[in-house]
Amino acid sequence: MAHGAHRNPFPPHPDLALARDCEQCLGWGTVVTRDGDHELCHSCQPDSAGDEEAAASG
Ligand SMILES: [Zn+2]
Repeated sequence: MAHGAHRNPFPPHPDLALARDCEQCLGWGTVVTRDGDHELCHSCQPDSAGDEEAAASG
């Protein structure tokens, strides 16, 4: 039974060591977007190689 949309049940492996003292993700290393999706905390987690980077405007 596939809903069609395939999203990762779990976010990429965050570095909990970095998120330990982070107040953005409260040590989770991930944050929940407004859509309810989990993504790496941009505050403590290092920016991975921009692969999902959409076409930047201007
Ligand atoms: Zn964080």
